[in-house]
Amino acid sequence: MFTIGCHLAASKGFLHMGKEAVSIGANTFQFFTRNPRGSKAKDIDEEDIKAYLAFAKEHGINKILAHAPYTLNACSKDEHTREFAKMIMEDDLKRMEYIPGNMYNFHPGSHVGQGSEEGIRQIVALLNDILKPEQTTTVLLETMAGKGTEVGRSFEEIRAIMDQVELKEHLGVCLDTCHVFDGGYDIVNELDQVIKEFDQVIGLEHLHAIHLNDSKNVLGSHKDRHEKIGEGNIGLTALSSVINHDALKNLPFYLETPNELEGYKNEIQLLKEQRIE
Ligand code: FE
Ligand code: FE
Ligand code: ZN
Repeated sequence: MFTIGCHLAASKGFLHMGKEAVSIGANTFQFFTRNPRGSKAKDIDEEDIKAYLAFAKEHGINKILAHAPYTLNACSKDEHTREFAKMIMEDDLKRMEYIPGNMYNFHPGSHVGQGSEEGIRQIVALLNDILKPEQTTTVLLETMAGKGTEVGRSFEEIRAIMDQVELKEHLGVCLDTCHVFDGGYDIVNELDQVIKEFDQVIGLEHLHAIHLNDSKNVLGSHKDRHEKIGEGNIGLTALSSVINHDALKNLPFYLETPNELEGYKNEIQLLKEQRIE
């Protein structure tokens, strides 16, 4: 089955997002757990969640993907900033248990000159503090473009984090096509090789989701600017190969392209036409 969705605004609640997803031909979606700037989250609305869960079941929405505020930095040089990231993520994970069995993606962080080894150590410390044996949410490390001092710019850095986390069963990876391309992985000409490398370094069994984006920049640019599907330097042919690749085709795909709802609807339609079942 082709599991495809896009990033949706969360301000009107879960039921609203579920209905929006279905209205554009999606069968999953991603949302920010709170304002990307990391402010206070909305109160949990149990009625909305109950209605959403019934709606999701009826319309075949299985797993959904939450995204942490991208301004958090688990490996800041500043201890208060690290503590803030931990507090927000811990609270997000508590709230995720109201919709059990889903996924929570976050950007590993930027080491801001401390070096990636120290950054990795701090990210690991945060994860070892917040992951709980009883949680039903899988926390995903997102592969990054390597902009500035971003950690997670290579499969090796993601692996180094995973290696040191104690509750590995709650941890996985989300691969962003724009980020890995900007990070220097040639998914246009060498998709098989990139997937093989991911498998050797991280292990494909740890890959839980794909962010499907085109890129405004070129291979290895370390820029991270998403483009509409087929309008960037990755292109429709390569992205079609991604959604149809044997190692990836059963994963959920999430569009984070610069679009409003109508644009997402068109991209989902386009990708469905590209999909070989
Ligand atoms: Fe992200
Ligand atoms: Fe992404
Ligand atoms: Zn991005």
